[in-house]
Amino acid sequence: MKTKGRLIVFSAPSGCGKGTMLAEILKDEQFRCSVSATTRKPREGETDGVNYYFITNEEFEKRVADGEFLEHAGYCDHYYGTLLSEVDPYLEKGINVILEIEVQGAMKVRESRPDALLVFIAPPSVQELSRRLHKRGTESEEVIEQRVAASYKELTFAPKYDYIIVNDALEDAVSDFFAVVRAEQLNAKFQSEFINEVLENA
Ligand code: 5GP
Repeated sequence: MKTKGRLIVFSAPSGCGKGTMLAEILKDEQFRCSVSATTRKPREGETDGVNYYFITNEEFEKRVADGEFLEHAGYCDHYYGTLLSEVDPYLEKGINVILEIEVQGAMKVRESRPDALLVFIAPPSVQELSRRLHKRGTESEEVIEQRVAASYKELTFAPKYDYIIVNDALEDAVSDFFAVVRAEQLNAKFQSEFINEVLENA
């Protein structure tokens, strides 16, 4: 029997080091990160179809109307959304699909896919988060302030997730992530098919 992959929501305020965490996690072939569509402009070094599908407002709205999204949300003046084509074909193949999305989208996924595992990555403090954003240096001061304010708001949603992982030391945060996924794989709720199969073959 081929077990379906698990849908994993991975939310982290800007500057929480989620990019570095994901790069580590994705070294494991059992995981894939969905490529979202967005109307924001690419940052230096970002590639269309790899980091995001960079599309216009008009195209985004058309694809929403055509029912192509699992969820979508507005964030800092732009649209972001998860395409169904980035999710279901991979879950069917047994791959765990990670959605790196913000909190509004996460809450929508919770409603439409109740089996999804919701993981929130928190910074050790808001001060540290601001420091990391300045260090990254990819945004203007105004955008950094906007993002720190958005992050503060996002942190208030953390208790609605299944797990909260603090990204203080990268290695620990990554190993916490794998521990959470492993525990969930062993959760009795997701093993009924296996138990039935064992009983049938007894
Ligand atoms: P950034 O502009 O820094 O790449 O992303 C800004 C925010 O949008 C991040 O919190 C990121 O998690 C979120 N985001 C990226 N893709 C999606 C998506 O498909 N749906 C939703 N709801 N949020 C997304």
